[in-house]
Amino acid sequence: MMETVHPPAADETGFAGDYAAALAAHAAQGDETGLTAAFQLARAGMALGVSLTEICEIHQGAAAAIAAPETAQCSEEFLLEALTVYDMALRGHLDTIRQLRQEVEERQRIEEDLRLATFALSRQRDNLETEVEKRTQQVVAMLDDLHRTNKELMQNNQEQAEFAYAVSHDLKSPTNTVRMLLNALVEDYGAGMPEGARELVAMQSATVERMLRLIDDLLSYSNTVDAELVLAPVPLDRLLASVAADLFAEIEEGGAEVVLGALPEVRGDETQLRILFQNLVANAIKFRDPGRPQKVEISCADPAADPAVITVRDRGIGIPPGQGERIFGLFQRLHAHDDYPGSGLGLAICKRIATKHDGAIGVEPGEGEGTVFRVTLPRHAEGPEP
Ligand code: ADP
Repeated sequence: MMETVHPPAADETGFAGDYAAALAAHAAQGDETGLTAAFQLARAGMALGVSLTEICEIHQGAAAAIAAPETAQCSEEFLLEALTVYDMALRGHLDTIRQLRQEVEERQRIEEDLRLATFALSRQRDNLETEVEKRTQQVVAMLDDLHRTNKELMQNNQEQAEFAYAVSHDLKSPTNTVRMLLNALVEDYGAGMPEGARELVAMQSATVERMLRLIDDLLSYSNTVDAELVLAPVPLDRLLASVAADLFAEIEEGGAEVVLGALPEVRGDETQLRILFQNLVANAIKFRDPGRPQKVEISCADPAADPAVITVRDRGIGIPPGQGERIFGLFQRLHAHDDYPGSGLGLAICKRIATKHDGAIGVEPGEGEGTVFRVTLPRHAEGPEP
């Protein structure tokens, strides 16, 4: 239970006696000293909890005790002095209350602002969440679309490759038979043939050889598309040194120089990466400019970077502007077969291999001369999804 605290009674504090003494002194002397004493007494009494009613009672008692004619005047001054102190306290108290009320109003206003801001924020958050959810659903739908298109594309590629394989496989044996028959014709009847007929047969043999090479390249293309990637770490410096060794005869014959820079290790299918780089280096030697010695540089500007970017740069005949994309298509060639033999499938194979490794291949003109092929390979390829 809470205990009520009462201010001390006037007698207990000695206030009544002191007040009577002060009033008597003022009445007797009539100067300021008594008044000042009363003022201080009233303040001290207030501090001790003496109420206004008690002061009035004490005052009447003290005034009656003096009982002199001049008492009335003195006692009035005395009482007014005491009441002034109360009045001041009351005003101070009212000011404090007014100030407190203003502070409370200000606080309430701030609280209201805060409540409104919190509400607006929570609505914004709700909107944001809805928007994020909507966008996520859109992205998921787009990803699904992409996966489906990818799957269809891969299926398409697969079907094309199977078709190419079937056609080239079926074409190979009759073409081989034609070659055999032409050889037999030359062997058995060549000596008795007129010069014109022999030339015609020789031209047919050359055409058949070209057809066979085309068929072999087509088979190699469909094999590349079909083949599953067998991924392992492939140190490209070792691989390219071995490619250069395999092409030794062509390099010697073309009077070319092959320079290998520092090359990184990537994760990939060694057999397929060998086909890719072999095609690029062989092309660089084949498409050399007869007017200057060929130099082929294979390098990587930043061997630590991922993906690795390998450049194959030559000083050959170059590629006309605007043809850079086209040459990666099937059977696309920029030069006459008689000048530069080939099937137009090598770069298409390179592109398939780079894409299967999640990489890319591009071409750009060299600075002032020749061509630069740029092969991008992730260092940790995982291959396309099945
Ligand atoms: P192929 O070499 O059998 O003709 P590719 O697919 O390898 O077929 O190349 C396609 C065409 O791109 C070539 O016929 C040639 O016109 C051009 N090309 C390829 N590599 C080079 C190169 N290093 N310099 C100039 N042209 C090139």
